[in-house]
Amino acid sequence: MLSYQHAYHAGNFADVHKHLTLFAVVDYLLRKKTSITYIDTHAGRGVYPLVSKESQRLQEYREGVEKLWQAKRTLNDPLLRQWCDALSSLQPSSAAITHYPGSPWWLHQRLRGQDTLQLFELHPGEHRYLEDQRLSENATRTYGDGLAGLTQRLPVATPRLCVLIDPSYERKGEYQEVVEAVVQAMKKARHAVVMIWYPLLPAAHHHALLEGLAASGIRKIWHSVLCLRSPGEQRHGMYGSGMLVINPPWGLDERLAAAMREMTPLLGPYCHYRADWLVGE
Ligand code: SAM
Repeated sequence: MLSYQHAYHAGNFADVHKHLTLFAVVDYLLRKKTSITYIDTHAGRGVYPLVSKESQRLQEYREGVEKLWQAKRTLNDPLLRQWCDALSSLQPSSAAITHYPGSPWWLHQRLRGQDTLQLFELHPGEHRYLEDQRLSENATRTYGDGLAGLTQRLPVATPRLCVLIDPSYERKGEYQEVVEAVVQAMKKARHAVVMIWYPLLPAAHHHALLEGLAASGIRKIWHSVLCLRSPGEQRHGMYGSGMLVINPPWGLDERLAAAMREMTPLLGPYCHYRADWLVGE
């Protein structure tokens, strides 16, 4: 029984980390004309009105996207500016941020005629919201398990494949299930660019994911972490956000580091970012 609903957390610092990385990766992929299949294994609702009762309950967006939005007129970094411009295009009025887009929107708005997007969502209520979103005709939505769906749909018909795996990790076993699905997927699509998000929580269950991938034999796994608070300060809840990218586009590391240098002071005095290779070439 799934209980997680992303609307309670939409636009928080982890979403900014995840979606900025996603945006930068897609930007690199679009430099070539060859077609791309995008698979988003855990899609969520697609778009989140920040005035909803769910978003208003914790107001996590105030520690994330809102900080960036307030500074958007003075931003220097080109990636941050482009990301904020895309965000602006979703807002009914340019003054305030009232809607935060989830991964299906970030992916669909950059689809070209030759690209396709496959979205999976397993929560029936969340899937109904996703069905109601106006998305590109090249996007398909499936009510079902995204990890099983990923391996079933491979190999894809396009020369290139880009995958986002963004589970809610409601069960401890999900960290290991992600490793198993990624290992299967990489056997069928060795050149795929695969992004995996995970939370940094005091229980530190994400070590199973990192250790499992490091021991899997998969090469070129790039790893970045954005921490909003120190682990000691936070006995419950998420203090940091992790993002893994298998087969990252060349230049991604430096481009994100530059954006993060400008962004982290905006998010708070403790906020810091680091990136390295979990597994190199
Ligand atoms: N990727 C979304 C975004 O960036 O906006 C947020 C996804 S949210 C963290 C995780 C979503 O995965 C939830 O909507 C949850 O219902 C869904 N989910 C959980 N287990 C799933 C599974 N096995 N397959 C597909 N979706 C699943």
